[in-house]
Amino acid sequence: MAGKVALITGITGQDGAYLSELLLKKNYRVIGLIRSFYGSSLEKLKYLKIDQQIELLECDLQDLSQVIGIVSKIKPSEIYNLAAQSSVSLSFHQPIGTLQFNIQSVLNILEAIRLVDRNIRFYQASSSEMFGKIDSLPITEDHKYHPMSPYAISKLTGHYTTVNYRESYNLFACCGILFNHESYLRGSHFTGALDIVNGKREFLEFGNLNIKRDFGSSKRYIEAMWMMLQQDKPEDFIICSGKSIVLRDIAEYVFKKLDIPTDKIRINKELFRPTEIEDIFGSSEKARKKLGWKYDVDFYSVLDELIAEEKKNYA
Ligand code: NAP
Repeated sequence: MAGKVALITGITGQDGAYLSELLLKKNYRVIGLIRSFYGSSLEKLKYLKIDQQIELLECDLQDLSQVIGIVSKIKPSEIYNLAAQSSVSLSFHQPIGTLQFNIQSVLNILEAIRLVDRNIRFYQASSSEMFGKIDSLPITEDHKYHPMSPYAISKLTGHYTTVNYRESYNLFACCGILFNHESYLRGSHFTGALDIVNGKREFLEFGNLNIKRDFGSSKRYIEAMWMMLQQDKPEDFIICSGKSIVLRDIAEYVFKKLDIPTDKIRINKELFRPTEIEDIFGSSEKARKKLGWKYDVDFYSVLDELIAEEKKNYA
């Protein structure tokens, strides 16, 4: 017999797929909310061979009555809210849609929990982008927020909405403040580079490669999401690798691995964002101490895995 019931939004995304895989292994009944059976791609769930073990339901997360209906019917023990317009770049082009969806969806789920069952545990996918303008490194949970994109503003609003419901209604609601994390499931990272290898393209254009980011592995970061909801007390945690890498080093590493001359890397200033965080890395000491979450993955090994998978699946 299945154990706990987890409701996951954003199940068709990178983290949703890996989290589902983890929770199935832990004997959860996993129910995923998707936009629609016609419009949503189950590719990532199929890639992990778990699409048949998950129950999927259509839900417009911006419609409170639908969210309340589903939460009342499913009676989940835990809700993981991973659905979001998750691209910083796109949020500059679609600020209204990003803000509307990323904020309203969080509020609706929290309202549904408040109205239906306050014992349901809630995880909110917050982001390191919320910190924005940095005045000291590494970033800890106490660092001040200064969002620098519509995406970051939407995530910070979702974050504080979650904190507010925890403080106002005593909900078991936690925010995982995750730094950049990747996997093959995040999308085609290197298709452009493989196009060069296969003679389909001359060079590849990039935006600002001088910025530094703290990168990690999605497969490992999702473990911390589950751990947060198993604690005695709801709290927020930073999840990161603890060091930053210059984007240029990553691009050059990939090109060298694929035997492409690095002069095929071109910079296009039109791809620069209106505002940009220069360097950011965090400290996950609190997660290590309180959750027992351990992380010692070298990001270049994540890149090696990504390159191998992309080569295998390149069409
Ligand atoms: P992802 O691969 O882009 O997945 C996003 C998910 O959200 C997809 O399932 C997508 O559904 C769903 N979604 C987007 N817009 C939606 C809408 N209007 N209605 C319903 N569903 C919608 O993102 P991820 O990398 O797994 O990240 C998971 C969460 O963590 C996101 O909230 C993201 O903002 C946050 N986060 C990510 C990172 C990172 O580095 N990856 C870092 C910090 C925080 P469709 O498949 O239908 O598009």
